[in-house]
Amino acid sequence: MIHYYFAIFAIKKLHVMNNKFKYLVIFLSVVLVFGCQPEKKETKPEHPKNIIFLIGDGMGVSHIYAGMTANHGHLALEQFKHIGFIKTYSSDNYITDSAASGTAMSSGKKTKNGILGMDPDTIALRSVLEIAEEHGLASGLVSTSAITHATPASFIAHQPNRNMYEEIAADFLKTEIDVFIGGGRDHFMKREDGRDLTKELEERGYNVLFDMDKISGITEGKLAGLTADGHNPRYSEGRGDMLPDATVTAMKILNNNKKGFFLMIEGSQIDWGGHANSTEYIVEEVIDFDHAIAKALEFAKTDGNTLVVVTADHECGGLGINGGSFEDGTVEGGYTTKGHTGVMVPVFAYGPGAKEFMGIYENTALFDKFLQAYDFSK
Ligand code: MG
Ligand code: ZN
Repeated sequence: MIHYYFAIFAIKKLHVMNNKFKYLVIFLSVVLVFGCQPEKKETKPEHPKNIIFLIGDGMGVSHIYAGMTANHGHLALEQFKHIGFIKTYSSDNYITDSAASGTAMSSGKKTKNGILGMDPDTIALRSVLEIAEEHGLASGLVSTSAITHATPASFIAHQPNRNMYEEIAADFLKTEIDVFIGGGRDHFMKREDGRDLTKELEERGYNVLFDMDKISGITEGKLAGLTADGHNPRYSEGRGDMLPDATVTAMKILNNNKKGFFLMIEGSQIDWGGHANSTEYIVEEVIDFDHAIAKALEFAKTDGNTLVVVTADHECGGLGINGGSFEDGTVEGGYTTKGHTGVMVPVFAYGPGAKEFMGIYENTALFDKFLQAYDFSK
């Protein structure tokens, strides 16, 4: 405000000044009044170059808190400040499956349970991964299940039934995906049509590798990492650090693309712990998933131009927590079902554009928010 008073004072005194000085004072007054307008607080949209989308299959708030308790009170997830909730119901069911919810998040449309990458009339939808590819970005999928299983498949396949594993595997070759790491080798190699998709992938320039040691050594080019015949084993039964290691490898390879990348990482087996009503299974899978989240956050913090979004496709088990100890890392879980439930699941966002992910909204809105974050029109 002080410059306004100075300008008014100077103008009032104009009559006592000589001509040259008058012009100078008028000029300075104009500069003071119009040049020092209080800054308008513009909320500029922030557009990250890279998006890392992590899905904890079946991971509700209780699953997170069970993992946090078992980990003696903390998870990397606590570093996220922008938090929301999504409604997960599908187009034909109050309780979704992973195909319909995966499709909702990947492609922005609610569909029927069991359908992958298609609307309820089985018309193919374009996924955020495919749209990122069309814009020249790199893309990747990482999963602790078979890479052909519903969650990763919903980003790349277009099939009326999630159990059409061989058709889903063949859909990988219809895209320009740069990196995929997960199980499901049999769907590529032991097929009824006799095709060996690993050969076809090699012909198209992919490094096709079957063990994590070799996979972790790849830093560029295209990579098909098929780490198990079917699903990868659970964390404590031989999978070990496959998920965080595959996350690091995928980020390293995709980061070679100057335009940016889209990477989806799935902690698949939190859901299977829920179906088994096994708190122990849930806890080890949540902590493993959190290690992958930590790797993504580390990358995003160094990079400064990466949006990290963590959510779940639905809750599983109707898990409640009836007791526990941070000190001992013990959790007493209680369950309402062996299946999924309809409850909202949380969304956590970090990085440029993160605040857009706050609030309560449909799972389909994640797709729209991703496109807005990249500044793509559909
Ligand atoms: Mg899944
Ligand atoms: Zn499930």
